[in-house]
Amino acid sequence: RQRQYAALRDKPSVTRDGKTITLLLNAGLMVDLPHLAETNAAGIGLFRTELQFMVADSFPRTGEQQALYSEVLDAAKGKSVTFRTLDIGGDKVLPYLRAISEENPALGWRAIRLGLDRPGLLRSQIRALAKAASGRELKVMFPMVTAVWEFDQARALFERELTHLRRWGYDLPERVHLGCMVEVPALLYQLEPLMERVDFVSVGSNDLFQYLLASDRGNTRVASRFDTLNLPFLRALRSVVRAADKANVPVTLCGELASRPLEAVALVALGFRAISMSPSAIGPVKAALLALDTERAADLVNERLDDPKAVGSLREALSDFAAAE
Ligand code: PEP
Ligand code: MG
Repeated sequence: RQRQYAALRDKPSVTRDGKTITLLLNAGLMVDLPHLAETNAAGIGLFRTELQFMVADSFPRTGEQQALYSEVLDAAKGKSVTFRTLDIGGDKVLPYLRAISEENPALGWRAIRLGLDRPGLLRSQIRALAKAASGRELKVMFPMVTAVWEFDQARALFERELTHLRRWGYDLPERVHLGCMVEVPALLYQLEPLMERVDFVSVGSNDLFQYLLASDRGNTRVASRFDTLNLPFLRALRSVVRAADKANVPVTLCGELASRPLEAVALVALGFRAISMSPSAIGPVKAALLALDTERAADLVNERLDDPKAVGSLREALSDFAAAE
């Protein structure tokens, strides 16, 4: 198997009916970067910046953050890298940050909420990113956005830092793209105004699933209770792709969902053309996509999702479909 996947490394990721699917990697530390060349992935679809903070003994200074980000951009050798700003709180704790006690940390003061309420940390990170990407392209997205005004505030904060840096004489990134993660269900009902504001969106399927199905992602008692290919969840995903396509906004998905071949097939059938996954998933996912007839898979999926009386999951239908291909 491994050898078979290695042989796929240099094959373009194109489905049987000719659709190019961009396969990206999830990463968080320098040790992840060699996987880019190993897998021949098109870039890094999610760089989890909190990892550097989680392995440190104290808050990394702006200079340390900048050093990591520029090392990452160097190692990516021109391939696209999407940095996500600090996503701490919830299941991601910093040992040196005094834990505030919250009854429901997953619903609490975390990620962009903390970033906007205590902007010192976020501003330092923005400066680090902008300096690291001086003269290059910079893609940054914000986690756990619930309301579009949070994205507006984050963008305003970002632009203010860029203005300061310019005034101090720094060379800015050549281009900046600011994106939003779609991982809180409330965003599903604000897709039009969201798409007007963003340069790109990326679905965080781990959290979107957890919040949509009220199912703690870390709780093994409930983690496998609901199939990941259940219809309501797939309808939610489809609504994001459709709104993004309609507004001409690039869309990716960067949760664990994309790391499983059948799930990746479902995502492409829903309309995703770029997905980000763990490095070890690239081979198996590419193998499944090379064999895929996208149009036929889309027909199958859409027919079920459009049936107002349909319930359950698409797993069986999709695996029968995949087995017959
Ligand atoms: C997600 O929620 O799907 C995601 C990509 O982010 P994380 O797993 O880091 O929360
Ligand atoms: Mg998340």
